[in-house]
Parts: sequence; structure tokens; C-alpha cells
Amino acid sequence: MRVGVTKEREPGERRVALVPDSVAKLAAAGFSIEVETGAGLASSLPDAAYAEAGATLVDDALTADAVVKVRKPSTDEIGRMREGAVLIAFLQPLTDREGIDALAARGVVGFAMESIPRISRAQTMDALSSQANVAGYKAVLLAADTLPRFFPMLMTAAGTIAPAKVLVVGAGVAGLQAIATARRLGAVVSGFDVRPAVREQVESLGASFLDLGVHGEETEGGYATELSEEQQRQQQEALEARLPDFDVVITTALVPGRPAPRLIPASAVTAMRPGSVIVDLAAEAGGNCELTSPGEEVVRENVTIVGYTDLPSRMAFHASQLYSRNVHALLSHLAPEGTLVLDFEDEITAGACVTRKEGTS
Ligand code: NAD
Repeated sequence: MRVGVTKEREPGERRVALVPDSVAKLAAAGFSIEVETGAGLASSLPDAAYAEAGATLVDDALTADAVVKVRKPSTDEIGRMREGAVLIAFLQPLTDREGIDALAARGVVGFAMESIPRISRAQTMDALSSQANVAGYKAVLLAADTLPRFFPMLMTAAGTIAPAKVLVVGAGVAGLQAIATARRLGAVVSGFDVRPAVREQVESLGASFLDLGVHGEETEGGYATELSEEQQRQQQEALEARLPDFDVVITTALVPGRPAPRLIPASAVTAMRPGSVIVDLAAEAGGNCELTSPGEEVVRENVTIVGYTDLPSRMAFHASQLYSRNVHALLSHLAPEGTLVLDFEDEITAGACVTRKEGTS
């Protein structure tokens, strides 16, 4: 089976779907890997490393039996794929109906990385988690770099410096990594989430749980459900009262398939101390803060609000390495002997598949 690795064409995307390490493993397992020239360069992975791992360097990898990507393909890329080909990427099935329809019309069998069920058996394929981990880490580094204060407590001849106070709102995968990273840098950290089960996880990382008196529901899959309007108002008010205590606020609150919950209204930003920093990891889904400008860093009311939507891509080497292991695991699941065997009775295959060519069983 021919697997094609494309160069990512979305502006600013530095990641690549397979790194040479995974290429070598897949080649040994019987796959034939074609990598577009320069595909790994932005992740610090030269063509020579791919060739050494056993890949064939090509100008166009879109004609392969299975195409692996990070971002969803453009209309032009979809048009160049073969009918019946398999595609693995972040396909945004919950928010990009048009893209999914275009793949279906082309007869592409699409597997969305974000639709892989979050069950133990599929943990090695869980790209939402692997990339959220990178984003959580990077968010804290951006905050530390932007904040005009130290994170750790310092005792110097010139006096004692108090540690920074960091609040992480939304303690899922990204939030927990942000909490752990901010703790490692010496900040005093608090965490909050609407899922009550999270308190213990926040505390086990040495942070305190900020009780805002708002408790949401958890779905069977472990996700938060959307709060009622009344609960949202309560949460905004409670947060607004507490935000002036913090130097840094990192927000990661998301509800799958819905716009990001609006947690920090403009009035709450005004109430924060000058020089404070908000890093809004939910920017791509509209933002948790009313003043976030997705894709940008802005200063509003003397508060810096970082709304970058490409944090994993800003740490492309390791983000690619982790994503590549996820893709490798999914490919090995779909084609255990190097040949495609699509079993739609299987929970992972059926869950991840978002478009199916008629006749595939
Ligand atoms: P996510 O990215 O969808 O959301 C991030 C966090 O925002 C979640 O913790 C959610 O509870 C929180 N949130 C939503 N609305 C909020 C609000 N109004 N205020 C504050 N917080 C709010 O979630 P995620 O990080 O992808 O993971 C969510 C869950 O899935 C976690 O329980 C995680 O442990 C679980 N998970 C399970 C597996 C597995 O393989 N079993 C793998 C990964 C994650």
C-alpha cells in the first residue's frame, strides 16, 4: 500500500504528518512511503532523513492509496486525490460540513483524527491529546515571555520577588499540561473546570482548585456539556470577581462542536491588573475571552491577550513527532499487514471514518 505524506500548504503550518522515525517503522512493516520534497523542512526534518528512513521523495504525494496530512486538504488537493483513496488528517467533521461533503463527492474514505474514540485501545492514536499537550506547554511559555514579572519566587540581595499567580480555566488535556508547566516554572497556580471530577487532577499537580460554585455535566466520553445561560452568567460574574488576583490567565475551555464558551467579558479584562496576560487557547473556536482576536496578540486595557491558533505548529518538531506516532498507530490499525482491511464493525474504524466510498464494507 502506497502512503503519501504531503507538504502542508496551509499558511503558517509547520508540522508534517509522518516523521522519519515512523517512516522507517512503516516501511519495515511493508508500507511504501512517498514523501513530498521539503515536507518536513519546517519541522527541522530534512529530505535526506526521509530518504534514509526508506521513503521515496516525490513532487506530488496526493495520488497515493492513503494520504496522510495534518490539516484538512484544500479543494485543489481533494481534486487531485484518487477516488477510493484513504485520507487521514484533522478534517473538522463537526465544523466543516462543506469540506466533508467535498471529500464524499470525490469518493475519498476520510478518517478524521478528531473523531477517533477516546477509549483506552485508541490512546496511541489520540492526536487531540498529543497536540493539546504541546499547546498547553507552549501557552505557559508565551505567557511567561510576555509577562513583565518573574514566574518563580526569588530572594535576591535587592529584595524578595513574589511568585506570579496563574489561573488555568478548563483543566482538560491542555489545561493540565499548562498547570504542570506553570508549576515547574515556580508560579502559584490555580485551576478551574466545570467538570467536578477534575478537582482531584488539578490538586494532584500541586495547584489549588478555584471553586466558582458552577458545576456542569460530563458526557459519557468525558467531555463537558454546554452550561445553561444562567450558569454561564454565574460563571462570568464569579470569574470577574476573582480575575484581579491573577497575573496570568490561561483559558482552554471547549465544548466539542460548539463555539467556545464566553468566560471572560470585556469588563473582566478591564478589572485585571496592568501588565497581566491572557492566553486564550480556545481562540480558534471563537475564544473564551470577549476581547481575543484569533490568530493575534493584542493589548487591551493594558492586558496582553494572546489568541494564536497555531500553538502546536509553533513547536513543530515535537508536535510532528507525537502526531506522527498517532498517524502511525491509526495506519497500523487500518492496515495491520500493510494492506487496507477496513472493518466497520470496529469501534475505532467506524468512529474515525467520516466519509466512505460506496461499496467499502
Ligand atoms: P476539551 O478540549 O473538549 O475541553 C477542555 C476543557 O474545557 C475540558 O476539561 C472541559 O471540561 C472544559 N470546559 C468546558 N466548558 C467549560 C466552562 N464553561 N468552564 C470551564 N471549563 C470548561 O477537552 P479535552 O482536554 O480534550 O478532554 C476532555 C476529557 O476527555 C477529559 O476528561 C480527559 O481526561 C478525557 N480524555 C480521555 C482520553 C481517553 O483516552 N480515555 C483521552 C483524552 C482525554
